[in-house]
Amino acid sequence: MKKSEAEKRIKELRDLINYHNRQYYVYDNPVISDAEYDKLMRELEELEKKFPELITPDSPTQRVGGEPLPYFAQVVHRTPMMSLANAFSADELRDFHRRVVGTVGEDVQYVVELKIDGLAISITYENGLFKTASTRGDGLVGEDVTQNVRTIKSVPLKLDFPEGQAPAVLEVRGEVYLPKEDFRKLNEEREEEGLPLFANPRNAAAGSLRQLDPKITAKRPLAVFMYQLGYAEGVEFETHYEVLEFFKKIGLRVNPHVVLFDKFDDVVDYCLSWNEKRHDLPYEIDGMVIKVNSLRQQEILGATAKSPRWAIAYKFPAEQKTTVVKDIIVRVGRTGVLTPTAILEPVRVAGSTVSKATLHNEDYIKEKDIKIGDTVIIHKAGDVIPEVVEVVKEKRTGKERDFEMPRRCPECGSEAIRLPGEAAYRCTNTTGCPAQIKRSIEHFASRDAMDIRGLGPAIVSLLISQGLIKDAADLYYLKREDLVPLERMGEKSAANLLSAIEESKKRPLDRLIYALGIPYVGSRTASLLSEAFGSISELEKATYEDLIKVPEIGDKIAESILAFFRQEQVRDLLARLKAAGVNMEAKKREEGPRPLEGLTFVLTGTLEKYTRQQAKELIEELGGRVTGSVSKKTDYVVVGKDPGSKYENALKLGIKILNEAEFEEMVEKWKA
Ligand code: NAD
Repeated sequence: MKKSEAEKRIKELRDLINYHNRQYYVYDNPVISDAEYDKLMRELEELEKKFPELITPDSPTQRVGGEPLPYFAQVVHRTPMMSLANAFSADELRDFHRRVVGTVGEDVQYVVELKIDGLAISITYENGLFKTASTRGDGLVGEDVTQNVRTIKSVPLKLDFPEGQAPAVLEVRGEVYLPKEDFRKLNEEREEEGLPLFANPRNAAAGSLRQLDPKITAKRPLAVFMYQLGYAEGVEFETHYEVLEFFKKIGLRVNPHVVLFDKFDDVVDYCLSWNEKRHDLPYEIDGMVIKVNSLRQQEILGATAKSPRWAIAYKFPAEQKTTVVKDIIVRVGRTGVLTPTAILEPVRVAGSTVSKATLHNEDYIKEKDIKIGDTVIIHKAGDVIPEVVEVVKEKRTGKERDFEMPRRCPECGSEAIRLPGEAAYRCTNTTGCPAQIKRSIEHFASRDAMDIRGLGPAIVSLLISQGLIKDAADLYYLKREDLVPLERMGEKSAANLLSAIEESKKRPLDRLIYALGIPYVGSRTASLLSEAFGSISELEKATYEDLIKVPEIGDKIAESILAFFRQEQVRDLLARLKAAGVNMEAKKREEGPRPLEGLTFVLTGTLEKYTRQQAKELIEELGGRVTGSVSKKTDYVVVGKDPGSKYENALKLGIKILNEAEFEEMVEKWKA
């Protein structure tokens, strides 16, 4: 390529990359995949390597990508928060090792960590107490997100130091992320609420953290892993591994898959071994990070303007597969929304077989120009949600068929209409459509709503088909003798189901509001409504003016709530729920329950979602006591990853063991 051509292409690439940087870092709304972005960046790097005289300090290859949003207070980092250079293959990893050895000699150890796909955060502790937190921003100046980070459960507000021994200043860095399952749920809820979807867990995490209202952040189940020392006064370290061990000791959450290596071949093997294993993790990783262990060697190696020379990110190959759209079917949701779904020739992607992908709505299908019979490229957004990336148009034979959104509900045959300003078609038979009734009862019983264990889709269908229930309130009037004769039911399952239904009467008000399935009211909005009105009867009475006073509730949601409560059958449903003894009031905060009163707990091992300190605080908040060692008086031992001898002692003494999920279930149901 001639220099003049290179100059032109470089300009094009810089403009493109700057545009995508803005979408990704500033608006948390990328328009291309990371793999496509990485390709553009690669091309630019290569051209700049060929024509170094064309490099300018403002090139995206020379700067960290983000910039702080103006409505956050700005924080100047004590030391820059950098990006990482990338390696896309074992060979490129070895090149990195050669460069390191060339500078510091053969004697190098490496620490290898998972590259968590979230957003970087810096937290400052003063004398062991949480003080401030900020995002990376442009690497030099970040956004002040102190109040938001404060709401993340796995960030301790106080570090575990003996009295008076905490360092004066400790600035630690890590990654805030949203677990895959929570990302899936959040998007599902957003789709139901008619909000734009997040492209992946990273963007969902960034969007959740960079909120002006910390209450919104608090509602999202964000978590952190800490992986880097930013700055310290009053402690010194020789190696990075030592830093991470220290982090664990003082109660910071460190990812359990960190490994120290002497040989670079082992580094490469370990990195490659995660290509497949990563799909089994509950959070998304987009690669591995390899860091020189010795802090002295790190200093010698130094950094470029954009990234340290002592570390590199190994990026996993993007998982995309080609398959065929065999059909497009339409599913009816609980609010009557018709969702087209592609039925695919089954294909293995990112750790599981995919045979369906949601196509969201009519516009989406038109925009991507998807036809029945098309060959398509698919991937999993955030490693969980199968999605069509694009149609392979060259493979078209002319036999492909256009898809038409049905004008009638495929379940009940009633008219389906597309309301102005909406992307979705809805079935207009809101009270009689069997699909809507079934899905709304399933929703009512689901985990985030009334959490009625054992009431899955199959049982709901059975109860409806037997004429035992017509809406959610009927559940509370079921009797033993209704259930026992049912197929595959029996005495025991009937008793379990009835007790789960009984138990659900105590759920907090926000769960009930969410469970009602009011269009556009997801669990976050339900909490806001619960807080603002305090009871179902007050919410029922609320006027348009009362509703729009609630933060985040605009025109559309307010109208939807009003229309919902105006319906005769809704009023009837609520009256029957109330008569059955279902809780209809918000709990007063100061009189929180103390269900663990009199119980003694011991904690051992690392928990995924809580630091030691948080688990302890939770137990104490609910009236329980936490002690340091296991004895006959201990009631429960909560066991995390890599537990210590306390676990063995508990087994010997026959003390009840709780794993993290059981513990979470025990405490979270009271916390809401
Ligand atoms: P990066 O994501 O490649 O690497 C640096 C970041 O890794 C750090 O800031 C930190 O947040 C994170 N990280 C996770 N685990 C870590 C660990 N254990 N140790 C250290 N750091 C860890 O670099 P970047 O500059 O933040 O982003 C560039 C990448 O972002 C691109 O390669 C691309 O994948 C993506 N991107 C995509 C778009 C798009 O439009 N799709 C746009 C911009 C950037």
